[in-house]
Amino acid sequence: MKSGIIRDILAESLSVGHIDVLDRLSNPKYDEDVASELKLKATIVRTMLNDLHENSLVEYQRTKNKKTGWYTYLWVRREGKIREYAQKYLKTQLTELNTRLDDETKNVTFQCDCMRVPYELAMDSSFVCASCEKNFTECDNSDVIDEIVSEVSRINSLLEQT
Ligand SMILES: [Zn+2]
Repeated sequence: MKSGIIRDILAESLSVGHIDVLDRLSNPKYDEDVASELKLKATIVRTMLNDLHENSLVEYQRTKNKKTGWYTYLWVRREGKIREYAQKYLKTQLTELNTRLDDETKNVTFQCDCMRVPYELAMDSSFVCASCEKNFTECDNSDVIDEIVSEVSRINSLLEQT
């Protein structure tokens, strides 16, 4: 696989190991062969292949060994799906971040030494925590909001580049 950005996104959403497996599958290969090329146990490679398959990034051809009755799987990556997967992953991240941003900007929260609670709960307990007996004070979540906003812009710029 060529694009550096798409590799980064796959590494973030799956793992570097999954990319190594994908890299080996430009032509169809048996899972055992991928495993020996990567010097990994076949069970580990199969687990990664299953993850990749769940995300439609690889496909396989199954053949039955007439002698043993066992199935063998010949795997190949689905070139056309990789970019689509990366974009879908980023869009899901964006949706989650926007929901969090919404929560953080709309809801006033309070905190004591042991927890964060919504305004209603702090008010119900007269702004004193029953567990640690400290006063509930309003949370300053501007740092959290800044973090989310900068993550949103990071992901937007990744999306533009994929
Ligand atoms: Zn408390």
